[in-house]
Amino acid sequence: MLELVNLENPKMFIGGKWETAKEGATTGIYSPSTKEAVSQIPRGGREEAEKAFHFAGKAFEEWSQMTAVARAGFLLRIKDLLLENQEEVAKIMSLEMGKVYNESLAEVNFSAQFFEWYAEEGKRVYGETIPASDSEKRLTVIKQPVGVTFAITPWNFPLSMMARKVSASLAAGCTMVVKPATQGSLTALAFAKLVEKAGVPAGVVNVVTGSAQAISEEAFNNELVKKVSFTGSTEVGRSLVKQSANQLKKLSLELGGHAPFIVFDDADLDKAADGVIASKFRNSGQTCVCANRVYVHANIKDEFEEILVSKVKNLVVGNSLERASQIGPLVSEDGLEKTKYHVEDATGKGAKVLYGGTSPVNLDGYFYEPTILSEVTGDMIIMEEETFGPVMPLITFEEDEDVIKQANNTEYGLAAYFYTQNLARSIRVSESLNFGIIGVNDGMPAVPQAPFGGINHSGYGKEGGHQGIKEYLNEKYISLSIE
Ligand code: NAP
Repeated sequence: MLELVNLENPKMFIGGKWETAKEGATTGIYSPSTKEAVSQIPRGGREEAEKAFHFAGKAFEEWSQMTAVARAGFLLRIKDLLLENQEEVAKIMSLEMGKVYNESLAEVNFSAQFFEWYAEEGKRVYGETIPASDSEKRLTVIKQPVGVTFAITPWNFPLSMMARKVSASLAAGCTMVVKPATQGSLTALAFAKLVEKAGVPAGVVNVVTGSAQAISEEAFNNELVKKVSFTGSTEVGRSLVKQSANQLKKLSLELGGHAPFIVFDDADLDKAADGVIASKFRNSGQTCVCANRVYVHANIKDEFEEILVSKVKNLVVGNSLERASQIGPLVSEDGLEKTKYHVEDATGKGAKVLYGGTSPVNLDGYFYEPTILSEVTGDMIIMEEETFGPVMPLITFEEDEDVIKQANNTEYGLAAYFYTQNLARSIRVSESLNFGIIGVNDGMPAVPQAPFGGINHSGYGKEGGHQGIKEYLNEKYISLSIE
């Protein structure tokens, strides 16, 4: 029995009330670990979204006028409640989208940090005074919340992607309607319950589950909505850009990636192996910042492969709710099929399986073993597309210039990593890689206080850091004549 969500009859959170969808429409949620039914979430559409935007608009009138210090109090209460309820929220997350329990717990903690960070950052939304060229004028810039905001979030980080949008939006003085991914909806509704418990005024945060297309169509056609923040695939991101044109909605897009991970021959190989394993196999390889192409210097290839295999073979594959599991299932059958397809394509073109390469026989869900492929070449699909599965392709290189060129040879530009102990090289390579986030001897660079976001086909806009709150603020220039 869960306290935060009634799995028998979960409801949406609109204007401070718990609501079902019109005519009781629902969508089934199934556990990726067992394929068993978990729950039926309400299938909201345009009507429910319109209602949520209406209440968010009403709530904005008071929330935007509250002091940042008062708003911070609510954000800190949400943080505390997330930490107090971390075990239940983690369980819900693991159940609906298959992330292993320990990683789900870590995600709840990470999410709480965003509320702490933005509770403080909201107090530092400073304006500016500008020296005037006319002695009878005073020029200032003030920053104001944009208004009602709308977030679309993905299933792979169902809580933290929502947390970093909601925390920044609320801290700026905006209100928000969230449309979570179908397989992240129960986590989002559990979060909404905590928002209610924190005493946040009705309508400030709303969660509408259901039809992605219908809900976002309403958002882009509703004059109340002033900003849309999306995290998800590049394909959907492109369609949102087109929809945003009509009303010129402010948009930020956190999209797909195809991260290179380079291991130079002067790297600490043990640390590099730990870094690439964390980057690649976290969430069973279903992260936007996952290492997708691992370039290993020819001089250390054999040694590095040996270290990698010795570590990866200890990873425990299992049901996401079991505490010992380190690799959970893929989110869906489609995810599993894509992973298999990438491996078959690579091995068909000459790649060698160093470890894994198959689904474990003793598990019913959408599992795939952590897999290492060597002898990978540029003509394989895995080198072009996000696999979104636990497969690590290894490519050999010899020259710095050549590997930087190969690493940059992608339409994406989210994250890139490299390991070296040479200071000059770490500066040179950081400056040469065309990505929004660079991890130097660091496989997990994302933190609440730093800007997260990509370039090129990985989208635009930042989340986290002082940059993240700007996405929810308008700058207003005031020229005052004192003549
Ligand atoms: P997705 O299919 O694009 O879905 C993301 C969200 O968009 C979900 O809420 C989904 O709802 C919704 N959606 C789907 N079709 C839509 C449409 N036509 N109009 C409006 N909304 C729509 O992506 P995903 O498979 O969930 O997530 C994986 C992708 O997200 C990967 O490419 C990954 O790299 C990217 N990602 C990026 C970041 C980042 O920060 N850059 C972080 C995490 C993930 P439904 O679930 O109901 O379909």
